[in-house]
Amino acid sequence: MLQSALFTKALRDDPKDALSANARLLERAGFVHKNSAGVYSYLPLGLRVLKKISAIVREEMDGIGGQELLLPALLDRKYLDATGRFAVDVGYDVRGKKDDAVQYVLGWTHEEVLTDIATRFVSSYRDLPFSAYQIQTKFRNEPRAKSGVLRGREFIMKDLYSFHASQEDFDRFYLLAKEAYLRVFRRCGLDALYVAAGGGAFTASVTHEFQVVSPVGEDEIFVCSKCSHAENSEISKLVDGSACPACGGAVVKKTAIEVGNIFPLGTKYSEALDLRFADENGERKHVVMGSYGIGISRLMGAVTEVHHAEQGLAWPLSIAPFRVHLLDFTREGTRAKAAYDALSSAGIEVLWDDRDVSPGEKFASADLMGLPFRAVVSEKTGDMVELAKRGERAGKLMSVSDAAGELNHGI
Ligand code: ATP
Ligand code: MG
Repeated sequence: MLQSALFTKALRDDPKDALSANARLLERAGFVHKNSAGVYSYLPLGLRVLKKISAIVREEMDGIGGQELLLPALLDRKYLDATGRFAVDVGYDVRGKKDDAVQYVLGWTHEEVLTDIATRFVSSYRDLPFSAYQIQTKFRNEPRAKSGVLRGREFIMKDLYSFHASQEDFDRFYLLAKEAYLRVFRRCGLDALYVAAGGGAFTASVTHEFQVVSPVGEDEIFVCSKCSHAENSEISKLVDGSACPACGGAVVKKTAIEVGNIFPLGTKYSEALDLRFADENGERKHVVMGSYGIGISRLMGAVTEVHHAEQGLAWPLSIAPFRVHLLDFTREGTRAKAAYDALSSAGIEVLWDDRDVSPGEKFASADLMGLPFRAVVSEKTGDMVELAKRGERAGKLMSVSDAAGELNHGI
């Protein structure tokens, strides 16, 4: 893409009241726009990142048999009434202008809706197990929406729900989901810890979270420095320096960002919505369920918090909006055009800074946007390009086709 065609521009100054790196850098670099507290627009660059994260999540969810669907965002209150969750205070009530009473809630979670749909299709043990997921906007009236895209009042979540005939079958799937989650975070460039956590009012007593250590995180966890065993302070009896219950190593207190979680739900929702199946002996039993969330937009924020420098973003290759930033310092632009065409036809996503601005400004915008590679075409490079990894001052001079090879292999 030509940078001159991008309708968003990097802002010269940090946005006001942006306390966290993600709020500051994503907005300055033109990836997001804050509309109001906790409500963000994802601009073309930001949307490219979200799509890449979503593609990784889809691959991993499809890989464990998840079937993608799309549930309504406007939830009739009857669903939440069925479990007593209409009263939960994160909900936004919706009332039409002409209506007297609240008929809907903006979807903040979807266990009830999907459980109700499942009652149509599940009658026998042969219909189980299955799992289904969606990537959708959720709405929550968060009181402290102040850490950029980490905590939105409107945010994008992947939520998967699984349905099983027995606890054993659920346990099997829970481990599959855990492994798939760890792969998602690793592929997005994050080291996420698997952390035992509390269940909250509507779930089982032990659930698991995926936490990324970061000073801006809102969670406190205790992590063993030897074996990585970790517990959320909400449920943990550990203190800083305790012996790890798993291996005896020293436990350290850290702050972290919750990027995902997995919940055993037992039969809580299948009982409330009467989702039953006939087992091999014809006995009618409640379906055993689980729910599994990943904050897609929060993940983008978490990657920003973990990977950035003072002067800008630093995208992992897997989710960068473009792979290489082509900086053109020549007057005529024909060699840059040739490099752009050659790299693009080799399947590489190139952002070509063809703007009529100074080299200093081009370098600054490349540092701010944080693409994994920079390719410079200047009077000095001749027919070659100077390819550098983000953060490297000097690059390597090479032919455009060698650069294409290096970029395709990610070096
Ligand atoms: P938190 O404790 O951070 O409020 P939660 O326990 O409410 O999270 P879930 O309801 O299980 O989280 O949501 C699944 C995932 O969605 C979370 O692990 C997190 O990554 C993401 N998420 C939850 N709330 C928000 C929010 N307000 N903004 C952005 N992402 C969110
Ligand atoms: Mg919450």
